[in-house]
Amino acid sequence: MNVVKLARPEIQKLQPYKAAVQLDDTVRLNANEAPWSSSGDRFRRPLNRYPEIRPARLQRELAARFGCDTDELLVTRGSSEGIDLLIRAFCRAGIDNIVTASPSFSMYPHYAEIQGAEIRDVALPRETGFRLDPGALLDACDEQTRVVFVCTPNNPTGTTVPREQIVEILEQRRDRSVIVVDEAYIEFSDAVSCTELLDRHENLVVLRTLSKALAFAGARCGAVMGNTAVIRMLNAIQAPYALATPVVECVENALQADQLKQAEDGVALIVSERDRVMNSLRKYGFITRIWPSSANFFLMQVENAETIVNACAQQKILLRFFGGSLSDCIRVSIGSPDENTRLLQVFDTIEGS
Ligand SMILES: *Cc1c(COP(=O)(O)O)cnc(C)c1O
Repeated sequence: MNVVKLARPEIQKLQPYKAAVQLDDTVRLNANEAPWSSSGDRFRRPLNRYPEIRPARLQRELAARFGCDTDELLVTRGSSEGIDLLIRAFCRAGIDNIVTASPSFSMYPHYAEIQGAEIRDVALPRETGFRLDPGALLDACDEQTRVVFVCTPNNPTGTTVPREQIVEILEQRRDRSVIVVDEAYIEFSDAVSCTELLDRHENLVVLRTLSKALAFAGARCGAVMGNTAVIRMLNAIQAPYALATPVVECVENALQADQLKQAEDGVALIVSERDRVMNSLRKYGFITRIWPSSANFFLMQVENAETIVNACAQQKILLRFFGGSLSDCIRVSIGSPDENTRLLQVFDTIEGS
């Protein structure tokens, strides 16, 4: 069975929007565009023209970089858009559900709520260092579970899910659910991308983003990778002309060798700073626990989390407080060496007060 059979029936039948044909060296009187470009327009493809319906070169380059075939990848506006497209494609409102771990990335339940899909949370127990229990995840699934989100490294806990557990989930849910492996932070870990499993597991979808390790959060660019039939279906849902010309051109530049080298050095620096900051924290009495992290952030348990977050904000350093089951925790992103040192200085004043 092809996994698209799990999608909403009306989406399985949906045809992509028929946009105006775009051919080089033609007089284009077919798209109601302006025939002149603005004097401030410095782009290779002038802005008076619509962008490509889908950015072909970027799609090719991202597929090569992330390790899949070109027709197994859709370029998206951040991987957040991929999450939205997947839930809209597979979940019938009021009937189907998604399964996700908790705590994890809040965009999964957010988009499920918009779509009217039930959200099933599987608690990641603190006592086990927030490790995912694949058995518990599978137990939470039923016939109406269309999408399962596995975030590795997980935001906000920094924990990874071992490859054999991902394979077990894929196999147990074969022909029943799409398993979405969100690899937003994979560059900061030792893990190998799950794209190498795409050939064997039709129900696997992998998400990547340029927002973290590639330092392009402002460009809003990511990718969904999966079975070609799934990608074709997501392509039919995504807005035509979704990726704006300035975004496409700046991301193409970001994929040049020199910028990739810079990103790689940046990731190495973040990883070494993560170790430095986490080691320096052991001296503070108000920090009661720090969980190991494979990402560009870490989670710590503290006395009086909200007070500490507010005290740091007073010193113009913003940390992330979630409340709820994490009301005694703070997520800290790793910044530049100077920024991290400033954080430690503020922690010195908190410790002394
Ligand atoms: C930051 C993040 C993303 C990336 O979102 P973009 O829309 O690509 O910026 C995806 N998944 C997780 C878990 C994240 O933390």
